[in-house]
Amino acid sequence: MKAILQKALNGQHLEKSEVITLLASAGAEERALYEAARTIRTRYFEDRIYLYGFVYFSTYCRNNCNFCYYRSSNQIHRYRKEPDEVLMIAKQLAESGVHLLDLTMGEDPVYHEKEFTPVLSIISSIKEATGLPVMISPGVVPNNIIDEFAKRNVEWYALYQETYNRDLFATLRLDQEYDRRMNAKLYARTQGMLIEEGLMTGIGESMEDLADSILAMSHIDAKQLRVMSFVPQKGIPMEQTKSPDRGLESKTIAILRILNPKSLIPASLDVDGIAGLASRIDAGANVVTSIIPPNTGLAGVAQNSMDIDDGSRTVEGVRKILKSMGLRTGTQEEYQREIQV
Ligand code: SF4
Repeated sequence: MKAILQKALNGQHLEKSEVITLLASAGAEERALYEAARTIRTRYFEDRIYLYGFVYFSTYCRNNCNFCYYRSSNQIHRYRKEPDEVLMIAKQLAESGVHLLDLTMGEDPVYHEKEFTPVLSIISSIKEATGLPVMISPGVVPNNIIDEFAKRNVEWYALYQETYNRDLFATLRLDQEYDRRMNAKLYARTQGMLIEEGLMTGIGESMEDLADSILAMSHIDAKQLRVMSFVPQKGIPMEQTKSPDRGLESKTIAILRILNPKSLIPASLDVDGIAGLASRIDAGANVVTSIIPPNTGLAGVAQNSMDIDDGSRTVEGVRKILKSMGLRTGTQEEYQREIQV
């Protein structure tokens, strides 16, 4: 373990067997993994942490992913926010001090039918009104729509594979093509957009799968790499599947950090809310995602109500915790420098 961490600290490549050893660590060895991850984060980012505002503006989706509350066959309340309301929420988030606006939607059939015209117009008005970088998380879209995002200088395209095991992918993302999803993000990268890749733990993967996914996602030139734990949702086929131990998510964050020292790695508030922030930052994360303005009737992705209306999932709530950990939020200029291509 010591030798593996020393290799990591020296910037050397890690083998799959070494990644598996890190994933299996516990006790003092697990703590040493987090310490190495923090050392590497400090080397490149010092004490700076970045904050992302989250706007889930349509919870309609044409897909039927087995792990997702918003799968098309789940009989739930859904919304599609009006453009004015999305703009207002984006402005509120910008004023509160986030560095980026993450505009997320399910694969809403209405927007697909309209060739994304309303979404492109929302993006343009948000960019004009806030001046902030934007991440679009629209699911899989055709290349001509990615071209439109790139033309509007949308900085980021987020699209998560969740696993690099194709068989497992097929059981999770029903009737969706692995390569189509992968190729969409790779295409966005060729158009100058930054990409965010993501994994999920607790979805039936083996340690080998997880190690394969961690290593593979570290080689697709993704500037941001996220991992989230599966959270069971009412009405989905995986409703009875247990949420995994959070140590696995933290260890994955730490391994992603040591393999990708200069990457942005999120601590998502969407899994355990504000209570889960410190452990993820301690594991080497340097971005806090899923910050929302209170009382806006928005949903989360994995947790559709946690902390959403009580005001603690806000910039102010996050800053307090970061300060108590001896960290600070970076300036907007510092964030701009991080994401320069
Ligand atoms: S994970 Fe995304 S694509 Fe799949 S059902 Fe949920 S919102 Fe739709």
